[in-house]
Amino acid sequence: MNLLERDSKYVWHPFTQQKNMTGPIAISKAKDSFLFDENGNAYIDAISSWWVNIHGHAHPYIAEKIYQQALQLEHIIFAGFTHEPAVTLAERLIKILPGDFSKIFYSDDGSTSTEVAIKMAIQFWWNQNQSIVNSQQSTEKRNKILAFNNSYHGDTFGAMSVSDRSVFTLAFHDLLLDVIFIDVPDESNINSIKEKIAEQENSIAAFIYEPLVQGAGGMKMYNPVLLDELLLFIKQKNIICIADEVMTGFGRTGKMFASEYLQTKPDIICLSKGLTGGTMALGVTACTENIYNAFVNDDAHKTFFHGHSFTANPLACAAANASLDLFEKNNVTESIQHITNRNIAFAQQLRKLNGIKNVRTLGTIFAFEIEQGEDVYLNSISTTITKKALDKNVYLRPLGNTVYIMPPYCINDEELDKIYAVLLELI
Ligand SMILES: *Cc1c(COP(=O)(O)O)cnc(C)c1O
Repeated sequence: MNLLERDSKYVWHPFTQQKNMTGPIAISKAKDSFLFDENGNAYIDAISSWWVNIHGHAHPYIAEKIYQQALQLEHIIFAGFTHEPAVTLAERLIKILPGDFSKIFYSDDGSTSTEVAIKMAIQFWWNQNQSIVNSQQSTEKRNKILAFNNSYHGDTFGAMSVSDRSVFTLAFHDLLLDVIFIDVPDESNINSIKEKIAEQENSIAAFIYEPLVQGAGGMKMYNPVLLDELLLFIKQKNIICIADEVMTGFGRTGKMFASEYLQTKPDIICLSKGLTGGTMALGVTACTENIYNAFVNDDAHKTFFHGHSFTANPLACAAANASLDLFEKNNVTESIQHITNRNIAFAQQLRKLNGIKNVRTLGTIFAFEIEQGEDVYLNSISTTITKKALDKNVYLRPLGNTVYIMPPYCINDEELDKIYAVLLELI
């Protein structure tokens, strides 16, 4: 059996209807912005392999650091033990994170980073309540989460609960947590959103949001000034603000973190995807001293009982440290700025065309909708576009009729020109 036959016999792919599945394409190697298949075809990875890759594929510096770490210490239980790569990474992240963060909690991926954030926020209030219960007073429980319509925070149960009720979550609706959903703010709805929050403010533990751009919800960009206004309002209600920067972190939006565009900083921040340069699975949930302190207690019940076998895996931490080295050593910020400027220029060109709408760009993210069929994830135009673009050696994976690009920062002008040209041909 060849590779594809063995794949179809033994493997089940994510987010994929296996019936009549086209492909998959067997990739045998990757380098910088390129993916190479078994037949030697090269494709430009215009979406950074599901938004994770930032310095390019098979980066020799990151590879070397992972290899060296593997020879030294590949893994160790992280309860009762610690190691240099995890401590160094925590130290470095605390220095650059947008806000007053004091502790780093490690997990496995983006979903676990938000899952941890939700559990941390709910237990923060539970721990406070325990003290009050002990002193014979009772207060209303703060255990609900506030989230945006059209959001995406991952696929585990907690993460799914705070994500938009969509085709992704349909089978599980009866089982999901009770979540209060609000629209992303615009001039017309911000006051009614505030009223809705105020009505239930004492029952809300936390608010989770994707700052500036909702990724899987269709690369929807929204008003940072109004988000700031909303965050300030929410903070004043003592609701914990959780920024899910799993996608926006590490330069995607033009700044190191999207929260840098905002005055009001989060109490908890979630990171993954670009954290290791897109090489290894790792999640980070960072919190403020205030949140952390609610767990530090003589009462053992107030412990945060959460952890994974691979918490703070040294190889993943070494990869993340190597990725941060590259930000410091190379001109990554300049590359991001260059892509940003080119996207802005290309957006101006595209806005003149018919058949597409909502041309938008933020940092290295560029998106628009094809005016064909409904604006939904299952719009079949997505697979058609992927196929047509692959024929022209560019890898795209539209979200329904939302076509977007999100290239690695190492992409050069010639490669970007090629992606833009393919987009124009497709339109
Ligand atoms: C991708 C993503 C997640 C989930 O991360 P996984 O690593 O796929 O589990 C969570 N939040 C946002 C904003 C994401 O883009």
